[in-house]
Amino acid sequence: MTQKQILIHYGELSTKGHNKKMFTNRLAEHIRLRTKHIPDLKIFPQYDFMHLKWESATYDEIIAILKFIPGISRFEPVYPVAKELGAIQEKALALFAELGDYEGKSFRVVAKRSDKSFEYDTLSLQRQVGDVIGEAYPQLSVDLRTADYKLTIAIHQDGAYLSLISIPGLGGMPYGSSGKGLLMLSGGFDSPIAGYLMMKRGMEIEAVHFASPPYTSPQALEKTKKLTAKLAAYGKPIRFHEVPFTAIQEAIKEAVPDDFSMTVMRRMMVRIMDQLLIQQKAQAIVNGESLGQVASQTMKSMAVINEVTHTPILRPLIATDKNEIIELAVKIDTYALSNEPFEDCCTVFAPKSPKTKPRLSTIQAMEEALNIDELVSQAVAGTRSILIDHDYQPNSQVNFGDLL
Ligand code: ATP
Ligand code: MG
Repeated sequence: MTQKQILIHYGELSTKGHNKKMFTNRLAEHIRLRTKHIPDLKIFPQYDFMHLKWESATYDEIIAILKFIPGISRFEPVYPVAKELGAIQEKALALFAELGDYEGKSFRVVAKRSDKSFEYDTLSLQRQVGDVIGEAYPQLSVDLRTADYKLTIAIHQDGAYLSLISIPGLGGMPYGSSGKGLLMLSGGFDSPIAGYLMMKRGMEIEAVHFASPPYTSPQALEKTKKLTAKLAAYGKPIRFHEVPFTAIQEAIKEAVPDDFSMTVMRRMMVRIMDQLLIQQKAQAIVNGESLGQVASQTMKSMAVINEVTHTPILRPLIATDKNEIIELAVKIDTYALSNEPFEDCCTVFAPKSPKTKPRLSTIQAMEEALNIDELVSQAVAGTRSILIDHDYQPNSQVNFGDLL
């Protein structure tokens, strides 16, 4: 087996000065976790790029993994060859042979030498490799500025390295390099995308789902677990918290006039989030709100809901339109799941005409009918947590008859 290599370019974290080592270590850790089934893969974090070297897996396998890892701006397979003109030309031709698409395309060759003792200077090396490619593929024109295909040849002390394609990464920052947030995850389109965006920006995420059985179904719960699995593909296994919310919904239904119930319910959710935040040592609440989308997402509503906490509530979708959210849902493959029709707690108890401009003092007066501390601590105490990874499978029903 020949050695294979990929060079990873960091992008934005490369501007982070002396913290950079923390960022590159996080990235290396994440890559190590997702490649642990390839034991011979070695990771060499360097100042400006990260080098991966391995033998026992294909390039495609590694490329598929790297596309899901935040903190990579682009990466390129690099092919090591002997430091001899003939070997370099031969590998260059082999790489171009794999492209398969030449009509109307252009190419260029860029050589770099860190080993100045190599017998050809960069210009002569570029010309001699360019010539064999031009002869083999007369359809290709040479373009020294914006070529479709750029072959890079780096001459180092230990050998020559060729690279031809540069693959875009996810961008963003390494997972876990920007603190931890608790994502309020409903079954809709918005909240998974909010989680994805924060994860891409380096925030570690745990998911919190408020469930109101029997008003909400086991399928609705399962759907949010599957959504969590989709998100976990972009990070590490995600802790999923299921908060029992039925008693609170019923108490609100009984004590609070319909039009105000939504605001009170949201305030209860945030109070519970705050308790979980302390337990899980997180620093922010993340939700899928988008300005003006529904009554609870007006400026006035959000202000009244925010009033119960000092914790930052991050709303990465606040300025996005629904169609932009849907585009992202298609891209990260949450669309079909979010589109499943199971009711979640908010739709079941949704009032017909919720207040879009609730007054804080009115809401506070109504909350006096509720035993808030007890309701919150019971919900927190009853919360069940599991760890969900990208390969999550719903627990299959065990038929006890089969076990006998
Ligand atoms: P989504 O925003 O996920 O599409 P939705 O459009 O039904 O769901 P709302 O009901 O307006 O959104 O809720 C706004 C935000 O509140 C959601 O994006 C989500 O972050 C949070 N949220 C709503 N319901 C729940 C729930 N049952 N569990 C956890 N978080 C929830
Ligand atoms: Mg929404």
